[in-house]
Amino acid sequence: MNLVVMKFGGTSVDGAEAMRRVGEIVRRSPARKTIVVLSACAGVTNQLLRIGHLAADGGPEEAAAIIQELTRRHLMIARDLLSPSVRPEVEAAIEAAGAELLGFVRGISVLGELTPRSLDLLASYGERLSSLVFAASLNGSTPGSTLVDARTFMVTDDQYTKATPDLEETSARLQRIVGPLLEAGRVIVTQGFIGATPSGVTTTIGRGGSDHSAALIGALLGADEIQIWTDVDGILTADPSIVPAARRIRIMSFREASELAYFGARVLHPETILPAIRKGIPVRVLNSRRPSSQGTLIVAQPNTAKQCIIKSVAYKEGISLISIVSTRMFLAHGFLENVFDVFHKYRTVVHTVATSDVSVSVTVNDISHLHEITQELRHFATVEVNRAKAIVCVVGDHLRNSPGVAARVLQAIAHVNLNMISSGASEINLSFVIDEHDVESAVQSLHAEFFSRVDEYEEIFD
Ligand code: ADP
Ligand code: ASP
Ligand code: MG
Repeated sequence: MNLVVMKFGGTSVDGAEAMRRVGEIVRRSPARKTIVVLSACAGVTNQLLRIGHLAADGGPEEAAAIIQELTRRHLMIARDLLSPSVRPEVEAAIEAAGAELLGFVRGISVLGELTPRSLDLLASYGERLSSLVFAASLNGSTPGSTLVDARTFMVTDDQYTKATPDLEETSARLQRIVGPLLEAGRVIVTQGFIGATPSGVTTTIGRGGSDHSAALIGALLGADEIQIWTDVDGILTADPSIVPAARRIRIMSFREASELAYFGARVLHPETILPAIRKGIPVRVLNSRRPSSQGTLIVAQPNTAKQCIIKSVAYKEGISLISIVSTRMFLAHGFLENVFDVFHKYRTVVHTVATSDVSVSVTVNDISHLHEITQELRHFATVEVNRAKAIVCVVGDHLRNSPGVAARVLQAIAHVNLNMISSGASEINLSFVIDEHDVESAVQSLHAEFFSRVDEYEEIFD
């Protein structure tokens, strides 16, 4: 293998022991060139965002206490992990970051205002600190490592907290900055999630975005494989926290994986797959606690002898169902256009849609502009909003040419009240909206229906 991009999530770098394991995995990488993309230590991004909110809302002491805790946590990892020759420098950098954060909190609390731009700068400390410590831990081993600040190459627009990378500029900078280091045999350590505008202001590309960073870097540099290292054995037939007996999926298609990610299987960020698809680069999801497990391989076309209808069950909570009814829809062309214009105006993504002659129901996950959206919709329709809903879906490439699946799904969840059913245009998922409190039972029933007798598919499931 020539080039591999390895991304390690928060739990994989959560402490000295975990980082040691990651170091071992990186050293054993058979690839000629390796780029390591790191997340912040588990929980740190949430803490950093909380620091910002506390500072703005009159809680600077509590914010300072969290900063102290964060600083101590990273210092402890450094102490445990690093050799005496590199430790003092890293410790000084961690202390300096803590002091910067404190200064920052003072600034925010004086202004009493927390902008998305400040939130991004705050959040960036998580990845910057984890990568600082980890890169230093590789020092002295062969091959040598170089820490490259992602903000020098990941160029984004200025949509703070969910910035979009500029592929052309990022590609050019990767070639220029990272290319020669790789050629020189250095292992590159960098941060996921963060980037910068062309003028150098720090941005982030959305929560859980390190997967996306890794996939982009891999696609732009033409990697042979993108590896997403996490805390489970790969992509499983359901979220293991709800279905402990969930099985590992050995191989699946890009389409299935992106559909699953989109519908909430947190193990992979939805934006991860696209750059890989574009270049046809395989993505592998692996367990950093059990590197010997083969993980899940995601490819364009899995070449398995047998084909199984359903690969996985996913769910997404925190969904709002908006029902829009217009008695004037009859004869009124352009109604749907008007409806979607409103969502577009407030940059709110609609997940699933069902329409009838006089009504349209949509689900959204982002409710930051829900009030404005419903106000505008009410100019031409009656609107009802139901919160605390969830989308549950079954995904599989062969769903579209397999009769009888819908009947099995409905039978399995006959005990649950369904608000909406939708079979996506991609025809590889069947999804429905239910109450949040029914999720566990629905997912378990569906899993039992589709995965209790899959032993004949040993090529596909563990
Ligand atoms: P990381 O910090 O490595 O990015 P995440 O917490 O984002 O890790 O994703 C891994 C978690 O995703 C697992 O611990 C598991 O609880 C959850 N998960 C949800 N659905 C699935 C699924 N279908 N397969 C595997 N893991 C899943
Ligand atoms: N640390 C970031 C987050 O928690 C990005 C990531 O882990 O992927 O959202
Ligand atoms: Mg993740």
